[in-house]
Amino acid sequence: MSSAMPAEISRDMLERFAELSPAVDQVEPETPWWDSFGSDEYAAALSTAAQGVDETLSLYIHVPFCPGRCLYCGCNTTITHDSSRIDRYLDVLDREMALVTERLPGERDVLSLHLAGGTPNYLNDAQLTRLTEMVERRFRLLPDTDLSIECDPRRTSAGQLDLLYALGYQRITFGVQDLDPGVQRAIGRIQSLDLIRDVYWTAREIGFDSIGFDLIFGLPHQTEATFQRTLETVAELQPDRVACFGYSRSTTRGSHQHAIDVHQLPSALERQVLFHNAVKVFTAAGYAWLGLDNFALDTDELAVAQQEGRLHRSCIGYTARVSDLFLGFGAGAVGEVGGYCVQNQTSVARWQEQLEQDRFPVGRGHCLNSTEQCRRQAIEHLICNLELPASMAAGCLEEEYKRLASFAPDGLVEIGDDRLRITTAGRFFLRNLCSEHDAYFNWDRARWHFARSS
Ligand code: SF4
Repeated sequence: MSSAMPAEISRDMLERFAELSPAVDQVEPETPWWDSFGSDEYAAALSTAAQGVDETLSLYIHVPFCPGRCLYCGCNTTITHDSSRIDRYLDVLDREMALVTERLPGERDVLSLHLAGGTPNYLNDAQLTRLTEMVERRFRLLPDTDLSIECDPRRTSAGQLDLLYALGYQRITFGVQDLDPGVQRAIGRIQSLDLIRDVYWTAREIGFDSIGFDLIFGLPHQTEATFQRTLETVAELQPDRVACFGYSRSTTRGSHQHAIDVHQLPSALERQVLFHNAVKVFTAAGYAWLGLDNFALDTDELAVAQQEGRLHRSCIGYTARVSDLFLGFGAGAVGEVGGYCVQNQTSVARWQEQLEQDRFPVGRGHCLNSTEQCRRQAIEHLICNLELPASMAAGCLEEEYKRLASFAPDGLVEIGDDRLRITTAGRFFLRNLCSEHDAYFNWDRARWHFARSS
């Protein structure tokens, strides 16, 4: 993917699509999840999957603990200062891994292990070591298995980074969000630029293969000028990857979000401008713009995968490594096994209770029917490869294909002989282009909810 400066987008166009991206998300999306999908159904799905002895695995572990609550937080996490509670969580996590591997006997190669939360690096050194060794004992990690972890810079130390590297984590993502002190005060997350620089350069010196920063646009008190400073500072540091997510205030995801005053939020149009500026800054600084809201240096594995048409999107984001089974562990963890999307109980107590009864702690699931599989494949292709081959839409998404083609006069798509391509201008509205179509919209919203509800 070229890192050339993208086309300027007219204000008219930004205004038109801004209406589709509200700053305040008052209605939770509908999802196709079935609450009736539970332990027995997951056990059956694992038993069916067990017949494929050569299948590869990706592992996702959710660590739902933080020392304090950021006001914008929509994650499944619990605030605690009791370390023994985390020890107990690890005990139960080990039980969950044992239950799953009993159903999936034999050794399958693990392509990736990702720790997220919550704050995985809230675990102390002994707990981080124990968790990693627990995974190594239950699964076959290879020398080139991609081990990654999300870290809160405020909980990071040089010693902890040394330990993570020694344990085999090569990829680390820091939650930076915004560097402006006023914005940080408004979201209840104070972390100085000196701190961010310090943890970044320490991780660089230690030798992590890939360092990522997460940013958020649409936060209270964020303006074009303040966010521009954040963008330029981050671009100067040159992390390997940057994710730039949009914040939508949603009090249904946590009453603490009431503390964010809607009047301090950028308008829908301002949000479009903030993201537009992020694209300009990062593409000018040598980053490839991957699909929706991710950027990677041209040399990064994800950028190379996109250039070669190998980029995929899993439950937890863009990836160049596609496994047959995606196993989630921990409260609220998501997974994907044999055509089923699965999510564990989000409550730590309910998750633990089911495991203590030797039952899989599944909270809900969904089996993709053939049309949904077709939609999913088409949307993944659109957000990874920025095109939709007509053959992929044939028979199941023909109406949606025509609706997408109707954006050609706006300059958002180009119609080729056998496919539609998203133009540079269309890339800014990729999410909208998918969500213009009801059939896509429902599934797209579900996918995003699926990815972020952990
Ligand atoms: S945003 Fe992250 S660090 Fe902050 S409370 Fe939520 S999970 Fe914890």
